[in-house]
Amino acid sequence: MRLCGPLLKQGDAVSEPRSVAILGAGMAGAAAARGLAEAGLSVAVFDKGRAVGGRMATRRCGSLQFDHGAQFMRAHGPAFAARLAEWGQRGIVAPWAGAARWVGIPDMTAPVRALLAGLPAASGVTITRVRRTGAGWHLDTATGTTHGPFDAVALTCPAPQVKALLDASGFALPTVEAATYAPCWSLMVAAPGAASEALIEPREDPVGLIALDASKPGRPGGLRLTIHATAAWSRVHLEEPHETIVAALLAGAERDLGIVLHPTHAEAHRWRYAQVDHPLGVPSLYDPALRLGAAGDWCLGGRIEAAYDSGAALAGSILADLGTAA
Ligand SMILES: Cc1cc2nc3c(=O)[nH]c(=O)nc-3n(C[C@H](O)[C@H](O)[C@H](O)COP(=O)(O)OP(=O)(O)OC[C@H]3O[C@@H](n4cnc5c(N)ncnc54)[C@H](O)[C@@H]3O)c2cc1C
Repeated sequence: MRLCGPLLKQGDAVSEPRSVAILGAGMAGAAAARGLAEAGLSVAVFDKGRAVGGRMATRRCGSLQFDHGAQFMRAHGPAFAARLAEWGQRGIVAPWAGAARWVGIPDMTAPVRALLAGLPAASGVTITRVRRTGAGWHLDTATGTTHGPFDAVALTCPAPQVKALLDASGFALPTVEAATYAPCWSLMVAAPGAASEALIEPREDPVGLIALDASKPGRPGGLRLTIHATAAWSRVHLEEPHETIVAALLAGAERDLGIVLHPTHAEAHRWRYAQVDHPLGVPSLYDPALRLGAAGDWCLGGRIEAAYDSGAALAGSILADLGTAA
């Protein structure tokens, strides 16, 4: 038998690695989980969505597939640039539509799934309250179950959802409420016909962006468009019925593309918290007395890279407090 690591003497205590619960399996939660796990901590990730990825989302309907949230990633700083390069070598991302834009392969959730590979991540679990007892943190779910105890908790939901969860739990993290979001109506359209350009950004109401899904690497062919409304238009029309949104965005896209679409599929999705318009300007929040932290794009800016950097920063704060397992 071959033993690795230091040998234990009889009577030595075997200490469990410190444990961290992470709420949210978007880019911020995944980056935090990977950073903590690489340092030897035990992590458990929970997400209310059907799949991991958060706003790096892909909707499937039969053979159709749409990236109906974030369209692409860009790196401005060295940490995310290094990650993109590593993912590129592993075939997890590839360039798309020029200008240093990268997309996940075969969909936008791929980078998050890569960060979470091998880590315990539960989808379809809504956390309704976090509780602190002498033993540590416990998480209550919408179905009445409880998870824990954990040594620390990281909240990586959009800021308004972090605030609501903290309020429901009787805790606070200063300034969370200062971060604000713009909404976005998104339209997924399948239509027969010739493919158009990979990416068009009219930025003229109602349409902010039109992406040709099939032009992205690793996707099925066909004319499938994701059409994002501008933030201003989405804000005004936020509570309108889906049929009204579908009609308005279809008409806007036909005008911008100069073609008549004859959709075989048209489906709208409302992102209430789409892109951050007022970030906090700090990498993450962490209270060492409570061992409670929060991260997300709302800390540094409304981009995937900002979410990644924020999650990594929160992992650093937790590690500075709890120590590594080494
Ligand atoms: C329409 C749209 C277009 C965009 N386009 C781009 C783009 O082209 N490029 C770019 O860089 N960025 C873009 N973004 C922004 C980008 O998607 C986000 O900045 C980034 O994905 C945020 O990651 P996050 O981890 O901070 O949050 P999220 O991805 O929102 O992850 C938070 C997770 O928390 C989960 N959650 C919330 N509450 C609970 C709870 N109570 N219990 C359990 N889980 C919970 C949610 O289900 C979610 O999965 C776009 C966003 C949208 C919506």
